[in-house]
Amino acid sequence: MIARVTLEIALRRDFDYSIPEEMVNRVEVGSRVKVPFGSRQVMGVVTALADHSPHTNLKPITKVLGEPGMVTPEVLSLARWMGEYYCCPVELALKSVLPEAVRREKDGWRERLLVRIQTPVGEFPTLTKRQEMIWRIIEEWREIPLQELVRIGETTADTVRRLEDKGLVKITAERSERDPYANEVVVASEPLVLNPRQASALAAITSAVDRRVALAGDRQAPFTGGAFLLHGVTGSGKTEVYLQALAHSLERGLGGIVLVPEISLTPQTVERFKSRFSSGPLRTLVAVLHSHLSSGERHDEWHKIRSGRARIVIGARSAIFAPVSPLGLVIVDEEHEGSYKQEESPRYHARDVAVVRAQREQAVVVLGSATPSLESYHNAQRGKYTLIELPDRVTDTKLPLVRVLDLREAGKGGKGGAPPIFAPRLREAITQRLERREQTILFLNRRGFSSSLLCEKCGYVAGCPNCSVSLTYHRAAQQLLCHICAHEEIAPTKCPQPNCGNPAIRYSGLGTERVEDTLKKLYPHATIQRMDSDTLKHKEDYRRVLTDFRTGKIDILVGTQMIAKGLHFPNVTLVGIVHADLSLHLPDFRAGERTFQLLTQVSGRAGRGDVEGEVFVQTFTPFHPAIQYARRHDFLGFYEQEIEFREQLQYPPFARIALLTVKGRNEDKVKFTVDHLRKELDKWFAGWRDLIIAGPAPAPLARAEGFFRYQIMLRTKAMSRLSQELAKHQETLILPDEVTLTIDIDPASLS
Ligand code: ADP
Ligand code: ZN
Repeated sequence: MIARVTLEIALRRDFDYSIPEEMVNRVEVGSRVKVPFGSRQVMGVVTALADHSPHTNLKPITKVLGEPGMVTPEVLSLARWMGEYYCCPVELALKSVLPEAVRREKDGWRERLLVRIQTPVGEFPTLTKRQEMIWRIIEEWREIPLQELVRIGETTADTVRRLEDKGLVKITAERSERDPYANEVVVASEPLVLNPRQASALAAITSAVDRRVALAGDRQAPFTGGAFLLHGVTGSGKTEVYLQALAHSLERGLGGIVLVPEISLTPQTVERFKSRFSSGPLRTLVAVLHSHLSSGERHDEWHKIRSGRARIVIGARSAIFAPVSPLGLVIVDEEHEGSYKQEESPRYHARDVAVVRAQREQAVVVLGSATPSLESYHNAQRGKYTLIELPDRVTDTKLPLVRVLDLREAGKGGKGGAPPIFAPRLREAITQRLERREQTILFLNRRGFSSSLLCEKCGYVAGCPNCSVSLTYHRAAQQLLCHICAHEEIAPTKCPQPNCGNPAIRYSGLGTERVEDTLKKLYPHATIQRMDSDTLKHKEDYRRVLTDFRTGKIDILVGTQMIAKGLHFPNVTLVGIVHADLSLHLPDFRAGERTFQLLTQVSGRAGRGDVEGEVFVQTFTPFHPAIQYARRHDFLGFYEQEIEFREQLQYPPFARIALLTVKGRNEDKVKFTVDHLRKELDKWFAGWRDLIIAGPAPAPLARAEGFFRYQIMLRTKAMSRLSQELAKHQETLILPDEVTLTIDIDPASLS
């Protein structure tokens, strides 16, 4: 037998190896193997088995690692597709598919030592006082982890070893699983009685799952379950529909994957899934995959899935590769989220991969959102996805009333004409909530105190030496910090220009730190908590703050996008968006869409309980469509005007984008290379009629971490073909030293 192996060292082809007889039963597609390569031993993954090889003198596989079949053949072929579509080497795609922790040997099972009682042969040995005491504990427990025994007996491992010498106990190494949620108590939850809208949404999904079951085994049969787009306002009961659809899949013997953005993978969300499947006939483990797991934890979660003990997986982006088999249902919640896109190679979009995977494995996919992406909604409009709508909140609460506050107006009459941080009406509203003992959330999408340091005398602005952005002032740390490369400097007390030295330097622009500071001055008796990556350094912090907020210990929560999503607090009746324009003026065709989504998401935090909610949006551009449609909760209105603009300019969803970025430390070299690249592109793709090539131009972030960045943008409807062609031509392209080219297919942002 021959095994075809993709090696982990970056090479674009497979190699054939012979399978030694003693390994024949253990090698299958997806097995991890160690093989000789030159004078080295390297790791690889078996991608195919064959009877014959065109090559002679094949070397044998040295070793098979781990349990067989770590990747399902389906996921393996998905990796191949990813490599091709996203223009990246298959090995890199394979690395995403199979987490580091599972690939490597060293993060294998954790062994723990277990002490077990033994009946001594012959006479009972004499023991010292200390040994006697430990023996009594063991007698009571019969079996106890060594570590635990050492702790409660206040003893040493050596003392226990002496007991082993005397034949009273046996110490053995046992495999144990790490469980990141080991200390949690899960309370079982029952399915809720659905309202009519939810019920018909569920019926549509479950009947697609049933059609899939009817096809089972027949891979060739066309499967018309396709995909669903579940458009439902926040609080419309989407999650309850997901839970019941998953239960239906389990009943039919199929597993499920639930993708949520990393940021909304809160303990609250995870708990809802765990508790639903913690008891009853559908009982199964729910595996959780996210980036904060230790590699050992990741290894164990992965095995729970592969062995079939966890049939539901909930996780961020990379959970789409979880080896759930057979797969019945894939849910992508908040499908519009930009964070589903991986920013390094392979630059895949987990939502799009989900749709492809589901199609290949004849599974049903549900994309859910209160503010669907233009791409997905367009797909629903033209019948590619089935649209399901949940336009109302479950409880009779109305969507919050949104008021737009014009900061230009609020600025008039203020000192120096500068607008206050809070317009008077927002201030009144906050005061009112404090009086009524209701809670407030204030949102600003920028951390730090001030966004820039400016000398009004000489015009100096503190900029990053490595990036084309200004440094943000963090007052608590007395630092100037770059939010791109994390460069930090001590904040100066006077202008640092040698021939200026003006002591009256000014910090301008807002950050969450300043919002918190101002609030503390305005409301000295209120409990105010800031929540951003500066205040939350440990993973427990997040949970603690949310618990404090839920139990009413905090009156006002100030934060970045960390607080925008997925949180459900009935006592929050006021949400203030401190500066809505921040995301509006980004040089990106999706700026309007992102702003609309963000405003809708943040607004959705208000009024989830008995009292109607109120939202204040502070802005300098009150009549911008993204703000006006968000104010009226009018997704369709926004979609219709935005889609028109996309069509005129041939932006997605009317074309797909390939973004080519050339980077290097020497600007001349970068410019030369990108100009040359443009000429080559014109040659390669001469006569390609629907292809639009724009650029080169400096990237919106023209310099980052010391690298100059120039871009060329390609747009076409035929992206699969374009990415294949690009990969082919890229190999012939010779780049100067220290200049790199990255290709991003379907970029989520143009920065
Ligand atoms: P979404 O995911 O759309 O934001 P959720 O599923 O979280 O909505 O539902 C919002 C709230 O309404 C939750 O507290 C949930 O428990 C509750 N809920 C959902 N469906 C029902 C129902 N059919 N009956 C009663 N309460 C429900
Ligand atoms: Zn920087």
